Amino acid sequence: MLKKILIANRGEIALRILRSCRELEIKTVAIHSTCDNKLKHVLLADETICIGPALASKSYLNIPAIISAAEISGAQAIHPGYGFLAENADFAEQIENSGFIFIGPKAETIRLMGDKISAIKVMKKAGISCVPGSDGKLDNNMKKNKLIANKIGYPIIIKASGGGGGRGMRIVFNEKDLESSIHFTKTEAKISFNNDTVYMEKYVEKPHHIEIQILADGQGNAICLSERDCSIQRRHQKIIEEAPVAWIKPEYRREISERCINACINIGYRGVGTFEFLFENNKFYFIEMNTRIQVEHAVTEMITGIDLIKEQLHIASGFPLSIKQKDILVRGHAIECRINAEDYKTFIPSPGKIINFHAPGGFGVRWESHIYTGYTIPVYYDSLIGKIISYGENRKTAISRMKNALNEIIIDGVKTNIELHKRIMNDKKFKIGDFNINYLEKI
Ligand code: ADP
Repeated sequence: MLKKILIANRGEIALRILRSCRELEIKTVAIHSTCDNKLKHVLLADETICIGPALASKSYLNIPAIISAAEISGAQAIHPGYGFLAENADFAEQIENSGFIFIGPKAETIRLMGDKISAIKVMKKAGISCVPGSDGKLDNNMKKNKLIANKIGYPIIIKASGGGGGRGMRIVFNEKDLESSIHFTKTEAKISFNNDTVYMEKYVEKPHHIEIQILADGQGNAICLSERDCSIQRRHQKIIEEAPVAWIKPEYRREISERCINACINIGYRGVGTFEFLFENNKFYFIEMNTRIQVEHAVTEMITGIDLIKEQLHIASGFPLSIKQKDILVRGHAIECRINAEDYKTFIPSPGKIINFHAPGGFGVRWESHIYTGYTIPVYYDSLIGKIISYGENRKTAISRMKNALNEIIIDGVKTNIELHKRIMNDKKFKIGDFNINYLEKI
């Protein structure tokens, strides 16, 4: 087992990783920016190293600084968490070339599956349906692009191949907007992801976002840990996730899980991974793969009883999977509400000092967060400040417990989206599962 790892992230996920390390008696090195020295995991870590100024490009995205910190501290491995460099193949490669273990897939796998266009190619080869689209990147030939769009049929969506976090996407309803939309998406993608490759897909109008959680050891073993529904989104970004999904027939679930497992084995996948699909009229359409731990991993942990971070650490230590597919027993239902420091109507971030904080609790309520009374949320990073995960023997109980938790939690000093979550938990259609990816924006 690894003895010491460096956590190359911040906020709730850094604390989540630290907790699993403690359980496995792995020493932790917390790296942080100048404004993050009061983060909870930094206060709890065995060692801390300040790697740069607040601006992420100078700290959490600064590869040489992170690798230097690993060298100085004598950490054996680096956990990237999610966001920042978690799906950066160059980061994984430089870590391994410097003699450390990257806690995740091999760099070549990230390169293959982290790029949406090449991932789609791999999945098609594995016999998995994808959204009808341009089958590769768009060039500047507008005549050709118009023909592709007409063949697919409007509305279509222009997507950045290197996109993430709901950014780098533009829906186009008719031909007159096609050229400018391609242009804008390319420009945005170049600025945000340093990669202006874009492609086109049919815009699926009323699907659920369904994803399949995979665990693989890179030694020929892969298993599936059920699925999640992440259809409640704002601006293509998830805010509520749940598992399992009652509205998928068992035979469809079984088939897609088997195909994902096979795809993992074929590409020699190592670590946790998620295959994301749009699901409409009982059909799955692959959209992308996430080659890292996801924000919503906790709902899967609740229904399977498996600590996904601990599994990552086992796999990175070189152990084969100790869990077999037949050992995966899905029990009960779990829901996650992402608590963001933002205005719940405009989604404008609301950084600042938390002057009073009271955590939710009780049977079946889990609170994953780094915040505390007196903590200041910096302006520089994502607005996610915590996650409430409720668990119950069925969806109804999970919703009731989530309502309790949302009523109990107190976060004073900054705006949050708690009120929005309360409304959704009381929404008639949400309660019966009658929603799709556009539901929240519609209401
Ligand atoms: P990201 O990497 O930014 O998360 P994804 O490809 O996973 O991007 O898509 C995020 C969300 O954007 C999806 O859950 C869905 O709501 C929307 N989306 C993506 N592709 C399509 C599509 N072809 N049709 C309709 N919605 C889409």
